[in-house]
Amino acid sequence: MTRDFYEKLAKVRHQIHAHPEISEKEFETTAFLKDYISKLDIRILETDLPTGFIAEIGQGKPVVALRADIDALPIVERNTFDYASKNGAMHACGHDFHQTSLLGAAEILKAKEEQLKGTVRLIFQPAEEVSVGAYQVIENGGLKDVSAIIGYHNYPHLKPGEIGLRSKAIMAAVDKFKVTVSGVSGHAARPDFGTDTVLAITTIVNNLQAIVSRTVSPFEPAVLSVTHIDVGSAWNVMPESGYFEGTMRSFSAETRQHLRESFTKIIENTADQFAAQVSIEWGKTPTLTFNDEELTPLIAKNSERFAKVLEVEPLTIGEDFAAYQEKIPGVFALIGSNGDENAAGLHQDTFTVKDEALKTAVQYFVENAIYLLDYFAKDED
Ligand SMILES: [Zn+2]
Ligand SMILES: [Zn+2]
Repeated sequence: MTRDFYEKLAKVRHQIHAHPEISEKEFETTAFLKDYISKLDIRILETDLPTGFIAEIGQGKPVVALRADIDALPIVERNTFDYASKNGAMHACGHDFHQTSLLGAAEILKAKEEQLKGTVRLIFQPAEEVSVGAYQVIENGGLKDVSAIIGYHNYPHLKPGEIGLRSKAIMAAVDKFKVTVSGVSGHAARPDFGTDTVLAITTIVNNLQAIVSRTVSPFEPAVLSVTHIDVGSAWNVMPESGYFEGTMRSFSAETRQHLRESFTKIIENTADQFAAQVSIEWGKTPTLTFNDEELTPLIAKNSERFAKVLEVEPLTIGEDFAAYQEKIPGVFALIGSNGDENAAGLHQDTFTVKDEALKTAVQYFVENAIYLLDYFAKDED
């Protein structure tokens, strides 16, 4: 594609970047994207998605899905370029980049529609940041008849033109917990009449740190962080209840199950020691982003035709693309979007991407969609 094409796309990204909308509120964004896709004469599927949408290019099976997320974060942007957001939300995760690259891919694939050996389904997914968007897409039939799905996240620590891939886990399974500890409040001078919820909570937090360090294989990555404790309000009162919250990250289903079971057991046993009651709430969070072992090496090889492909370590952040991979084979890549040594990380208020990185993202979608259609079409012959 010509330079003009990518200059046009960069302008589209700036437009989207200047008007971010947070998860489940992507109404204007959806309208903008739908308008763009309609003008390319690409058919939009009827669904009940409140935000986001699904479109298709080509005909019949096989079907390969391309997914881009479209939501922004409730962060006040501190960048000063002319298209910086001024509305209190920010595309600080680069989903403006993702959706723009899918628009670019859509335009190229539409021009090649006659040659496609099946259907390319475009998923403009809402609400990734709150881990509900992928489930909404699935409930709306987004994966119906789909043989495989591909997606990516822009990655500021890789340079434009670089793609990071790996088979199996590429992003963590995320667990989010809130644990409430309660008992009988009392005077600080007579702890024997009440429940020391302060000591119970701090002891639990201490004991939890033995899970990863003492019970998980040193060759298996896992993280447990308690990040917030709230208990008590006066110097001379033993509080009736308090809570703490935090997160766990893991890279296999077995480790995740082990973490959750040990977590529950340690909390219950420790609370028992203090005659305190506990309740554990688990938040809605992404499961493991698990790249298909058969397709990932093929996508890596095919991507070498237009990018520098690197094998990367898994990231400890999560991604709701995992929900698709629980249902069908999928490949999720990291695409270089900055590469400067001091580049701001994802979710920072000075985060930015380089427009020159768009080309690799567009090619990743286009070339791998065509490749996978050929691959699955052979199976059907
Ligand atoms: Zn994010
Ligand atoms: Zn993101």
